[in-house]
Amino acid sequence: MTTKMNESISKKSSAGVSRRSFLAGVGALGALGVLGGLSGCAPQNTQEEADDAAESYDAVIVGTGGAGLSAAIAAYDKGLTNIVVLEKMSAYGGNTNFSSSGMNASETMFQADQNIEDSNDLFAQETLDGGHNTGDPELVAFMCDNSAGAIEWLDDLGITLDNITLTGGMSVHRCHRPTDGSAVGLTLVPGLVAAINNRNIPIRMDCEATELVKDGDAVTGIVVKENNKTKTLNARAVILATGGMGANQEMVTKYRPDLAGYVTTNQPGATGDGYTMAENVGAELIQMDQIQIHPTVEQETSTLVAEGVRGGGAILVNADGNRFFDEMSTRDKVSAAELEQPGSFAWCVFDQQVYDNNKAIAKYDSAGIVKQASDIASLAEAIEVDPAALQSTVAAYNAITTDGATDEFGRTEGCIAFADGNMYAIKVAPGIHHAMGGIRINVKNEALDENGNPIPGLYAAGEVTGGIHGNNRIGGNAVCDIEVFGKNVGEVVAEALS
Ligand SMILES: Cc1cc2nc3c(=O)[nH]c(=O)nc-3n(C[C@H](O)[C@H](O)[C@H](O)COP(=O)(O)OP(=O)(O)OC[C@H]3O[C@@H](n4cnc5c(N)ncnc54)[C@H](O)[C@@H]3O)c2cc1C
Repeated sequence: MTTKMNESISKKSSAGVSRRSFLAGVGALGALGVLGGLSGCAPQNTQEEADDAAESYDAVIVGTGGAGLSAAIAAYDKGLTNIVVLEKMSAYGGNTNFSSSGMNASETMFQADQNIEDSNDLFAQETLDGGHNTGDPELVAFMCDNSAGAIEWLDDLGITLDNITLTGGMSVHRCHRPTDGSAVGLTLVPGLVAAINNRNIPIRMDCEATELVKDGDAVTGIVVKENNKTKTLNARAVILATGGMGANQEMVTKYRPDLAGYVTTNQPGATGDGYTMAENVGAELIQMDQIQIHPTVEQETSTLVAEGVRGGGAILVNADGNRFFDEMSTRDKVSAAELEQPGSFAWCVFDQQVYDNNKAIAKYDSAGIVKQASDIASLAEAIEVDPAALQSTVAAYNAITTDGATDEFGRTEGCIAFADGNMYAIKVAPGIHHAMGGIRINVKNEALDENGNPIPGLYAAGEVTGGIHGNNRIGGNAVCDIEVFGKNVGEVVAEALS
């Protein structure tokens, strides 16, 4: 099974960037029962043939990330049962598997339980501010207003996200993660897959959508490649939930030539197919050059060091052992500041409290990317920075939290003093992370053409869409986006076809 899966993944990574840790990741998913079970049946014939047997569905959903799986569940629960989900890879979950820090949401039942005061309006304002007011206010308001509902809906599916933390650009604890503080994706994807299985919704693995079919103005189906055959699936509605393009270097550099050579945090199937399919039937793509780079990516393994690590108290220091920026600022600003440092990298430094409070760190540790020492001076030696400089950096940072000193870099969030004991560091630099632009949609998830008119039969949800994050996504907002709009598109399509 593992050999077969690895073959399939390397075949699909031909777009140029492979994510070594994806293989490790899907290994873990196999243990959780998240791998598709049908891929072993694929015939060896390499010649493509047409398969003429007609298949018709009410809705075809493309992609098994959080958006696609949620769309299928929500549609089914609203009575739309003649549906199918397609996945071109041999493992479910896409980039959603890797989502780590959590899901932002406001006015939730869990915030209320923990006496966290928040409002949908504040969440929306901070999302728009984080994106420098280039996001679509209507989509943002819809996402924030429906975020608490999505948290409850997930809870009803058995996916409880009641451990709340902070991400950069947010002033309130609203990033919801599993009870034990572990990475959100590894709870979310298995939970959604279980809900799919409970409903007997079919998922076709190793089944790649290649082209939308149109009759007049309306989308009426989709062409797929499966078992070396091409086939058309007729559909009254197609929902594109194909995720972003972070693993397609050619497409990334088409829109952003300056990102040539950057590592990516994305899984190999994030090749932007949905953009091409939608554009070919007249959908408008917006803000396609808005590709987010994330400031804390370990470069050898392309491992993302979650923002929750900084939110839990970690600092970033340069090769001289000095802090250089507000670590809790937005990703674009932190990345830019990091690139100006000697060697264009930083060390993410933290203590045992941070390690213990963020379960993802044990995973980074087992991947061999965490340096450990018994105190600050020894850690400085291990990472080859000046011990006196690092000690004085940590002392100055501690003073913000204990003596009420003002931080020279303006950090006010997630300031937690380092306690004596073991110290840790991970070497990080920016990496390609998220496609913020994409298919233009409205709050009914209808794909829109250049005149703002819906293309009948075509819907989109999740990272494949644009307009929510503007030119800078806030950590935790993508999972909110895929859950709110994934659930929404399922309900909208079920209603439209009833
Ligand atoms: C390392 C990492 C950490 C992250 N952490 C967070 C976080 O903590 N919080 C947060 O909010 N966001 C986070 N994000 C971003 C977030 O995870 C993604 O934006 C989100 O999961 C995308 O979900 P999606 O359903 O739109 O797409 P995906 O989850 O990527 O799923 C898309 C699926 O479609 C499949 N597909 C693509 N093309 C085709 C085709 N032609 N035919 C059939 N199938 C196809 C893909 O293989 C994939 O399985 C993180 C991203 C990464 C990479």
